[in-house]
Amino acid sequence: MLDKIIACLDMAGCPSRCLHCWLGRMPSGSLTPEDLRFAAEAFRPYAQKIEVTSWCREPDYRADYRALWELETALSDEKTPHFELMSLWRAVRDEAYLPWLRELGVKRIQVTLFGGRQTTDRYYGRAGAYDEVRRAVALMRENGIVPRLQVFVNQENIGEMPAVEDFVRELGLADDPNFRAFVHLGSCDGENEKLYAVRLTPREVERIPPSLRAWTEQYMGKPLEAVFGQTEAELCRELEGRGEVYGGAKGGSVVFNIDARMDVYPNWTAPAPQWRLGNLLRDGAEAILARYLADETPAQRICARVAQGELVRACADRQSQRLFTMDDYLLYLINQYARRQSALG
Ligand code: SF4
Repeated sequence: MLDKIIACLDMAGCPSRCLHCWLGRMPSGSLTPEDLRFAAEAFRPYAQKIEVTSWCREPDYRADYRALWELETALSDEKTPHFELMSLWRAVRDEAYLPWLRELGVKRIQVTLFGGRQTTDRYYGRAGAYDEVRRAVALMRENGIVPRLQVFVNQENIGEMPAVEDFVRELGLADDPNFRAFVHLGSCDGENEKLYAVRLTPREVERIPPSLRAWTEQYMGKPLEAVFGQTEAELCRELEGRGEVYGGAKGGSVVFNIDARMDVYPNWTAPAPQWRLGNLLRDGAEAILARYLADETPAQRICARVAQGELVRACADRQSQRLFTMDDYLLYLINQYARRQSALG
C-alpha cells in the first residue's frame, strides 16, 4: 500500500495557452464534482491517505471554486494548504476571490511575466494577459497578499527584461521587503520543448539586469548561473559514460494528473502519450497503479531500463550551448528517446 496518492483532476482546463506550458496542450473539458468523488474513492483502497484537487492547470478557474475547495477538503484525508497560485482570469473578474484566498491564509501569490505587454500577451496566448497581471498585482496588494514575480526567459525575450524592471518600478513592488522575483528557464517539456531552439546559452546570461539577478539569487539561495544549470555540451560530457538509469517509480507518495477524459499520468513531466497509464473509468485504479509501479508505460520503461549514457548517444546535441538543470535535461532526453522509439515501432 502507498503512503499517499494525490489525484489532480483537470476539471476546468485553463483560459491561457502559454507557449512555455510544461503541461502541453491538454484536452479541454468539464469534469463534475461526481468525477472528483469517483477519483477519490477509486484510489482510496490503495493508499494510507488520499488527497484530491480539482485542478492541475489554473487553480480556481471555475465559478464554483469555493464549493470545489470544500469538496476537495471533504474528500481528502490530508489537505495541503492552498498553493501560492491563483486564477489570474478570476482575480480580475471576481471581487470576492482574492479576499477568499486571504481568508484561507494565502499570504503570497506567484504571477508570471515574459517581458512587456505584447510579449507577455503572446506567451500567455491571449490578448489582455499583461494588463490582467498588472491589475491582479494591484488587487493582491489591496488584499494584503504579496506578489512573487516569476519570469521565464529565453533568447527571444531576454531583451525585454528591462520591461520587467519597469513593471516592478511602476507598481512600487520593490518597496515591500517581502516582495520576491526570479527569472528561470522552465523545464523543456510540453509546450516549452518547442522553445528548445531559443533556450538561453551562457552568452546571454550576462544580459540579465543586475536587479533581476539579485532578486533571483535571493529567492533561489544560489548564484544565477547555478539556477540556469549547465550547457547541454557539459551535461553530455558528464552523462555519456554513465551506466545508471534515471530511475523508475518509487512507492511512498505519488501524484497523478488526470485529464478531462480521465486519462491518468504520473506527475513527472508533460502528460504526453508515452506516459499515459490508462483511463480511470475504463481501466480502473488498480490496473493503473500496477502499471505505474511496474514502470510499464513506454517512457517509464526508458527511465527504469535505459542507461543515461545511451540517452545521450541517441538524442543529445553534444555541441549545444543551451542551458539546462540536470533533471530537466534528463527528462528532455527521455521524452526525445520515447518519441524516437514510437516512431520506429
Ligand atoms: S502555464 Fe499555467 S496558465 Fe499557462 S497554459 Fe499552462 S496551466 Fe495554463
